[in-house]
Amino acid sequence: MTDLPGLLIDGAFQRGEGEPEQVNDPTDGSSIVSLAGASRAQVDDAVAAADRAFPIWSGFSPKERSLAMLKIADRIEAKQDELAELEMRNCGKPLATARAVDVGNTVDVFRFFAGALRTTSGIPAGEYRSGFTSMLRRDPLGVVAGIAPWNYPLMMAAWKVAPAIAAGNTVVLKPSEHTPLTALKLAEICAEFLPAGVVNLVTGNGSDVGASLVSHRKVRMVSLTGDIATGRKILEAVAPTIKRTHFELGGKAPVIVLDDADIDAAAEGIVDAGYYNAGQDCTAASRVYAQAGIETKLIAAIEQRINALTMGDPRHPATSLGPLITERQRDRVGGFVRRAVTDAGAELVTGGNPGEGAGFFFQPTLIAGAKHSDEIVQREVFGPVVSVTRFTDIAQVVDWANDSDYGLASSIWTRDIGKAGAIAAKLQYGVTWINTHSVNVSEMPHGGVKSSGYGSDLSIYCLEHYTTPRHIMFKH
Ligand code: NAD
Repeated sequence: MTDLPGLLIDGAFQRGEGEPEQVNDPTDGSSIVSLAGASRAQVDDAVAAADRAFPIWSGFSPKERSLAMLKIADRIEAKQDELAELEMRNCGKPLATARAVDVGNTVDVFRFFAGALRTTSGIPAGEYRSGFTSMLRRDPLGVVAGIAPWNYPLMMAAWKVAPAIAAGNTVVLKPSEHTPLTALKLAEICAEFLPAGVVNLVTGNGSDVGASLVSHRKVRMVSLTGDIATGRKILEAVAPTIKRTHFELGGKAPVIVLDDADIDAAAEGIVDAGYYNAGQDCTAASRVYAQAGIETKLIAAIEQRINALTMGDPRHPATSLGPLITERQRDRVGGFVRRAVTDAGAELVTGGNPGEGAGFFFQPTLIAGAKHSDEIVQREVFGPVVSVTRFTDIAQVVDWANDSDYGLASSIWTRDIGKAGAIAAKLQYGVTWINTHSVNVSEMPHGGVKSSGYGSDLSIYCLEHYTTPRHIMFKH
């Protein structure tokens, strides 16, 4: 792939005039393309285009916005093979999952918000003070900067763009410098059905392109999915211009397996959600707490299923585990495993090494005997690594689960629905799954508490976050 214009500004593609970024195929480490990022002047142009488009797009009726978004969804669906192939190449995702999950969810998210934008509700107009009529408006904010990560490039681009434009905002999207390719295709599709400037895209790194975008005076909201450290930097950068932020940051999901759980189902769920996308998932089932009576059996059941995973060529239909995104990420994951075993004294049940060949593979890894205070239990690894920690009583495991800076996702595995409900009520997480893990639906909010962020992606609550309620009052 050569000669790819990496920016969409005001409805037209153009080449970046900033620093070049290397986009690689993580399956073998080869280069796909070198893409010049946006210069500061090009970031300014993209924001100016979005700002000009705002009164036009926010003036479209809900029905008109909805119809345009439905056309975008249909076009994404029609191009699902091309998009899945590109996502596979740039991320090493197994092709079938890239098509079903990454592209499938993207289509659904556009369709969901196309419908949801026509059904917003609020306080009825009325005389809340005698002699005056009050009415509520829910208005868009203006230009939204959408900053996306590399783990689900297309899906995260959709999670940023769809609710923002559904609510009547305009967008400047910045995908990860590692994975801009499907976001570029999405921008191309959006440009086909939307007025120029409603969706703009700038590629490039975070420290230059991202930083100049989020600190721009005309950007009214920054929506980030990324690392906690990036969230902090953005909060500092937006302080002088006071703008709304919407953060989906990392996670370290506790998975609580009680003695009475269906162990096979729990092991299946943990392997599905712990190693999915090579563990590069903010809701990954990475931190298992096993009650003492089933710990040994659960570890054996997980190990057996790990042995059935096939790591390798994402094109091959039998492949369930692809590579990590970069060599750096693979080495970072290796460092976590090494410290867990050699420094903290946990047991390496299986895995623990990089895969063979030039790609950025890392073996699916299971660590047992981890203490709650160990780094491997406390910190997000973002790789195919699951730790198991033994607990005895429920009060203790609830304390441990909540003793985390993260608050995104959690799960409970038990046959006793009463116990599950009681534990779920005490967990401080944006989502608690019971006897399942990492299942999202567009109708329900996806978002965290504590350092995992605030605001929700997905659901009508997300639309609320991309708008502001306004009070209009008439004197009689
Ligand atoms: P990252 O924070 O390094 O990068 C995310 C995006 O932010 C990239 O586009 C990057 O270029 C940009 N960026 C970096 N510094 C910036 C700055 N100073 N100003 C503006 N933009 C900047 O994250 P990543 O490594 O791409 O993704 C992995 C992280 O994302 C993990 O921590 C993961 O948990 C998190 N994540 C969270 C969710 C969620 O829903 N909560 C979902 C997926 C990923």
